[in-house]
Amino acid sequence: MKLPLARYVWLDGRLVTAERARVPITTHAIHYGTSAFEGIRAYWSTGNLRIFRVNDHLKRLRRSGEHYSMSLDFSDEQLKEAMIILCRKNNMRRSCYIRPFYFVGEYGISLHVNRSAPTHMAMFVFPFGDLFDKRGISACISSWKRFSAASIPTQAKMGGNYLNSIIATIDAKERGFDEAILLNLRGYVSEAPGENIFAICGNRLITPPSSSSALEGITRDVVLKLARDARYHTVVKPIRKEHLYGADEVFLCGTAAEVTPVTTIDGKKIGDGRPGPVTEEIMARYCDVVLGRDAKYSDWLTEVY
Ligand code: PMP
Repeated sequence: MKLPLARYVWLDGRLVTAERARVPITTHAIHYGTSAFEGIRAYWSTGNLRIFRVNDHLKRLRRSGEHYSMSLDFSDEQLKEAMIILCRKNNMRRSCYIRPFYFVGEYGISLHVNRSAPTHMAMFVFPFGDLFDKRGISACISSWKRFSAASIPTQAKMGGNYLNSIIATIDAKERGFDEAILLNLRGYVSEAPGENIFAICGNRLITPPSSSSALEGITRDVVLKLARDARYHTVVKPIRKEHLYGADEVFLCGTAAEVTPVTTIDGKKIGDGRPGPVTEEIMARYCDVVLGRDAKYSDWLTEVY
């Protein structure tokens, strides 16, 4: 899958064409997964492009690398400005996905990463629509378990962590499902390979806590707030897979997936096998927020033009 990458990318403080942004094969991150990254969306509406929750994404980006003593030589303010300039330079006038990341460069084969290890910061952008079919997707409970915080920091979005997501996705796709759902090592529901998960039972929206090895996603936080606005009860607690099968509705959420209904799990229908009313309400509210139609959350949007 080749990206419809915009012409210019940003690398170490400069805008260059994508062909010119190259790294040596000895780059540490290629060998060991020592990269911290974010996925951010920007939405085009009413004549402007607006980046969604950029400050929160940049905060998490910095924290991710800090777990591994990786230096990030730009302030959040500089990175935000760079992102705006990147979108402008590419004349991006469609909804898009922005991928900022930093990684350990040439550092030999040493595993002793520290502040003196050279790092590079880069970002690119491409037009992006729906990741999943918003009319509902099929999921399976993966036999691969989500890694635990006893082995690696689960809140750090590091390149290396995503091998766990990749192996679960390969398995789900090979078995004919759209997406995997991973349990944690104790057998509780954790999350999907790149999304958090919610179960809806009556008027309660339930999502696993970070202690279930789930990333505390930014979209998950948005959903919790929007659900409370809509007067649903929100509960953050461990969930067993049986509770997913028996839920009225299940949905996934993440920057790329936005809010996506899960209509079957392991071939069993969730509810009546169609997107439910609560999921649809959250989807609609989410859409209003990211498109700038909900004044209450306008602080989450950063205008590009
Ligand atoms: N879990 C994982 C493993 C992810 O990769 C993502 C995507 N960043 C999420 C959850 C959702 O996080 P967010 O809403 O911050 O994009």
